[in-house]
Amino acid sequence: MTVAAGSVRDVLDATDAAPPVPRVRLLLPGQYGPAFDDGGPLLVVEAEEWFTERPFHRAKAHLWLSALRHAVQAAGDRAEHVRAATLAEALAGRTGLEVLDPPSRRLRQQVREAGVHVLPSRGFVTSEADFAGWVEQRRGRLLMGDWYEWVRRREGLLMDGPGPVGGHFSTDESNREPPPKGAVTLGLPDPWWPEPDDVDAEVRADLDAWEAEGRVRFVGADDRRRFAVTPAEAERALDDFVESRLGDFGPYEDAMLAGDWTMAHSMLSVPMNLGVLDPRHVVDRVVREFTTGAAPLQSVEGFVRQVVGWRDYVWHLYWHLGPTYATDHDALGATTPLPAWWRRLDVTDVRAACLGDVLGQVHDHGWVHHIPRLMVLGNWALQRGYRPADLTEWFTDVFVDGTDWVMPANIVGMSQHADGGIVATKPYASGGRYIDTMSDYCARCPFDPKKRLGDDACPYTAGYWAFLARAEPVLRHNPRMRNALGGLGRLADLDDVVQQERERTGP
Ligand SMILES: Cc1cc2nc3c(=O)[nH]c(=O)nc-3n(C[C@H](O)[C@H](O)[C@H](O)COP(=O)(O)OP(=O)(O)OC[C@H]3O[C@@H](n4cnc5c(N)ncnc54)[C@H](O)[C@@H]3O)c2cc1C
Ligand code: SF4
Repeated sequence: MTVAAGSVRDVLDATDAAPPVPRVRLLLPGQYGPAFDDGGPLLVVEAEEWFTERPFHRAKAHLWLSALRHAVQAAGDRAEHVRAATLAEALAGRTGLEVLDPPSRRLRQQVREAGVHVLPSRGFVTSEADFAGWVEQRRGRLLMGDWYEWVRRREGLLMDGPGPVGGHFSTDESNREPPPKGAVTLGLPDPWWPEPDDVDAEVRADLDAWEAEGRVRFVGADDRRRFAVTPAEAERALDDFVESRLGDFGPYEDAMLAGDWTMAHSMLSVPMNLGVLDPRHVVDRVVREFTTGAAPLQSVEGFVRQVVGWRDYVWHLYWHLGPTYATDHDALGATTPLPAWWRRLDVTDVRAACLGDVLGQVHDHGWVHHIPRLMVLGNWALQRGYRPADLTEWFTDVFVDGTDWVMPANIVGMSQHADGGIVATKPYASGGRYIDTMSDYCARCPFDPKKRLGDDACPYTAGYWAFLARAEPVLRHNPRMRNALGGLGRLADLDDVVQQERERTGP
């Protein structure tokens, strides 16, 4: 985090010398940890509107409410806990409030309308001013790789003098191993799970009551809390990742196994997005494993790239790309409404082993790792032409780490290529062969990843060609799509494949 307590004080002093009484710090979703609390009085608002707007994952409601109430409990007498229908109602008539600029446009507008004194945001390795400065220096495209390199240099992360440790800024090429042959799991210990406590019991009872009264609608299961919601739990989860899984993170970052839903991933997006775990602290801890020789570069660099590269980058893009980025972009003309089974996370009739397992995991946990998100769910939606704006909302609602800021660049940009190439240079579309290589799904599937036509044609393989045929007029000028599109012309059965996929009723 680049905005230290001292510099926040400087901003306060500069904008309003010697306030007569200390302001009360308003804590909003995503701000429930020590980085957002400078030790003064707190106002923690619990607004019903955050849980009622659209049906979302029950486990997500549990986590976010649990984090909020644990923050209230931890602050003791310093915190006032206000429950209200809306944030505006909770803030009405109050004066002397301050807030760290919140992580969504809507919250930012609401706190300004309520006259709350706004301080610079926190919760990321770099500040919004850092990104603005970087953009100003740039000519041409804003590429994640260039941003990442800039942050590495500036922060001195994994640097060896003027150059990167190991000679390259990215070890991406060694982060794409398929799962070990014949493996059912990676053989790692089960991740550490937090013990639900009295706060969770109260949250559970409240959510049950709200649901029974018809005040909220949920999808998915909430059998037990699996993600850290307090700073202490987050620290424990970080230790557990570093000690048990970091070493395997690098090589198996992209691999999937039906019997191992966590693989070697950190599962730290929830505590980081809740604000209870500081990303800079996470990165420093992981880098230390490399400097002490406890973890290999491919794992440590791969992980650092996700956090100071991707995480900070999509945060800054949320602001940089503007308020209509997620709603106004549809470069590939994707107009299919999300089907009911998809919205309900109902896999009863899903025969495709990969999609059934991944959507089932989303139902059970509200979480799958990056590759199932991108190459199973996102790839399916891309091929079937799901509306990007609807898909962005859906991912935000059903993923426990979903936030307004994280989704637009990941969905509209990376996953659906709906922005025409602002975020990613080409669509993340692939056939069943990729999934077959990177997982053990196909061996247990009634479809055949090599077939594009017939009853057992893999819907991803056939869907890939049907997608390319549909998107060809838009993609033909993209040099990175030349080879893929060249393949279209060699398919004698393309029309039949397109027709078959048009008539496909489900996966
Ligand atoms: C379609 C799609 C949807 C996604 N939805 C979310 C989401 O709702 N919330 C979310 O935080 N991330 C999201 N991501 C990014 C990434 O998939 C998740 O952060 C990651 O899977 C979370 O699990 P983890 O903590 O074990 O991550 P790890 O694999 O252990 O990675 C470490 C950390 O890197 C960060 N990170 C990695 N990639 C990204 C990225 N593309 N964008 C932002 N942060 C990243 C996360 O903070 C993550 O915790 C999405 C990516 C895609 C392609
Ligand atoms: S054959 Fe196709 S649908 Fe079945 S698991 Fe493999 S990629 Fe998925």
